[in-house]
Amino acid sequence: MIDTHTHSNHSHDGRQRIESIVKKAKSLKIEYVAVTDHCDWDYLSIDGYEYFQQLDIEGYLKEIERIRDKTKGLYLAVGLELGYHKDANGKYRDYIPFDRFDYIINSVHSIGNHDVYFPAYFENKERKEAYGDYLLGVLDSLNAPYPYNTVGHIGYVAKNSVYEKKILMREDFPDIIDTILKTIIEKDKTLELNANIKGDICMPNMSIIKRYHELGGENITFGSDAHKTNRLGEGYSEIKDLALSLGFKYWTIYKSQAAQKVKIQ
Ligand SMILES: [Zn+2]
Ligand SMILES: [Zn+2]
Repeated sequence: MIDTHTHSNHSHDGRQRIESIVKKAKSLKIEYVAVTDHCDWDYLSIDGYEYFQQLDIEGYLKEIERIRDKTKGLYLAVGLELGYHKDANGKYRDYIPFDRFDYIINSVHSIGNHDVYFPAYFENKERKEAYGDYLLGVLDSLNAPYPYNTVGHIGYVAKNSVYEKKILMREDFPDIIDTILKTIIEKDKTLELNANIKGDICMPNMSIIKRYHELGGENITFGSDAHKTNRLGEGYSEIKDLALSLGFKYWTIYKSQAAQKVKIQ
């Protein structure tokens, strides 16, 4: 079992110590866990977040490096979840010491000057516009000028959306979703299957994962996106069954940003 997306208390919204993640991962017989704390320099473009507490990258790296010596039988990957925003591109590229990380998730949380997690993003917007703009942001994020491995939680816009039909499906935006999936394949990136969604098995929705497979996509990974220890590995069994049923055989994991395949089981 693997879990490639977790947050510790180094993230502004994380509630677990790295030691607790290690302990829980061992108890669940997880062989590979990535701690992927938030680096949200996209928030520098969002109104009202001037004083937002950002990740102390050096402190975070130091703590993981100290703990890593004591995790026999478990690979503790040091990762980041970067909040993509075109205004933050250059800063990520110039100031993140990428060579000290195993694994980078590139996620879109913000569009324009809104975090799509909050209702203000949806004000005076039809679903088509709100979701369409989000997908254009995801497409843009694939061309980020910094190294990243995985495209995080496609469909995140649906999480707290206000529309009757919440879940983002492939048939809603077939052209742009196909372009996103083809670009992920061309760039040899990995599609994340993220368990942190209510009302569906994972993000993205099955219709999008199925299409990715039809287009020839092979690189997928599982992430619980646990912010608390009790959610570590949550959803693994359902998502594993879904991946197998769609014809995938391997998870992709990263060590020192080099991809490895592990059998889905
Ligand atoms: Zn995220
Ligand atoms: Zn996350």
